[in-house]
Amino acid sequence: MGLFIAATKVHAFACSEILSRFEQSQPHMGTLARIVIYAPDKEAAVRAANAAFKRIQELEAIFSDYQNDSELNRLCQQAGKGPAPVSPHLFRILVQSQELAVASGGAFDITARPLVNLWRRARRQRAVPNPERVSQALHLTGYQHLKVDANAHTAHLTKPGMLLDLGGIAKGYAADEAIQSLQQAGIESALVALGGDVAVSQAPPGKRGWTIEIATANFQVEPKLKSLLLSNAGVSTSGDAEQFVEIDGVRYSHIIDPRSGMALTGRHSVTVVAKNATRSDALATTVSVMGAKGGIALVNAAPDSAVLLLEDTASGLQVWKSKKWQKLKTVE
Ligand code: ADP
Ligand code: MG
Repeated sequence: MGLFIAATKVHAFACSEILSRFEQSQPHMGTLARIVIYAPDKEAAVRAANAAFKRIQELEAIFSDYQNDSELNRLCQQAGKGPAPVSPHLFRILVQSQELAVASGGAFDITARPLVNLWRRARRQRAVPNPERVSQALHLTGYQHLKVDANAHTAHLTKPGMLLDLGGIAKGYAADEAIQSLQQAGIESALVALGGDVAVSQAPPGKRGWTIEIATANFQVEPKLKSLLLSNAGVSTSGDAEQFVEIDGVRYSHIIDPRSGMALTGRHSVTVVAKNATRSDALATTVSVMGAKGGIALVNAAPDSAVLLLEDTASGLQVWKSKKWQKLKTVE
């Protein structure tokens, strides 16, 4: 027994002595990808981070809606033409997207790209799209028209003209994959941030968790709400702080309600903590669409997640927290 304790002590001592903090950033997926790791030396850190950045880049080539030859866009070209085989990454992200589409009654819907495109143009032209175009885009939207076959590993966009958009989930998925790549390189303590989507593995040596400062747009909130201590988790913030346009005094977000075809309006910020960043990313977008009541009910029903929602209302700042948010570790 005594020997065992001594051995553990030496091991713990050795770990905290030899690991140092390294941080690297590269532009990826239209944002800055930041990797923070604890590694034995610089060479190991650079090698591991480069492999993780490469993994993110490979995923971008699959999921991108900007790259014409991405696997996603090639799949969209098959719309209306029958089931097409998909790679394991695309398959996994489609399955998880469809699960959330069902659970949220279509508030999260990756088939909403015709609407997303319409509102992107509206933001550039500073004009709300006309109702006829909205109803045409709505006609091509609906997760029920996307069939994913788990046995054959195929996907089928059943209506010609349908388009998929993974913007609400792909950054979280890429952050999780980067964490896995780092684990494969022997890095146990890591943080990967892709814009507002963050994945963390084990806590830094000797710490209770990674300190995550939540972006709360311009909302003035008490500091206790803002600093979380997290390990083996994902955390994402969706808000209209960066991507919105104001037309005739109304702020339109880049998040769309796929059921009405309208962009979200008003000011809000949604932060979700979940078991991984794929979940937190997709759930943050979903809660934004569902609003406080429906969104918090959805998160309360999920065993692994917590949400903080800040909303600017006529009567001032409203703060909503799901049950499990109270139980998260915060920086003291
Ligand atoms: P960010 O990209 O700022 O991290 P989100 O994760 O909330 O924000 O994703 C917003 C993106 O998701 C939009 O730019 C669009 O591509 C896509 N999107 C918009 N509305 C929805 C929706 N209701 N369901 C799924 N994806 C959506
Ligand atoms: Mg999201």
